[in-house]
Amino acid sequence: MSDVRLRVDFVACDGHALCAQLLPEVITLDEWGYPILANGQTSDPLPHSLLRLAQAAIDACPTLALQRDRQDSPRHPPPAAGV
Ligand code: SF4
Repeated sequence: MSDVRLRVDFVACDGHALCAQLLPEVITLDEWGYPILANGQTSDPLPHSLLRLAQAAIDACPTLALQRDRQDSPRHPPPAAGV
């Protein structure tokens, strides 16, 4: 298992559904065509065997809503010392 997860920015997502077509093992669609990931906005860690397809789905997303979300790079870094 890799440390890479997928993340969807639902503000940017337009429900084009390309991601689910390219990566049905990880992404399904709701009734309006918006992606459903295992943990809401993020997927579970991807197996190494799906990393190439995941990158293809990221590259195909027309709104840049689909992104990599590495576990070792927190979105909210800890506050600076003394704050
Ligand atoms: S391809 Fe991009 S815009 Fe389309 S449903 Fe997936 S994340 Fe949203």
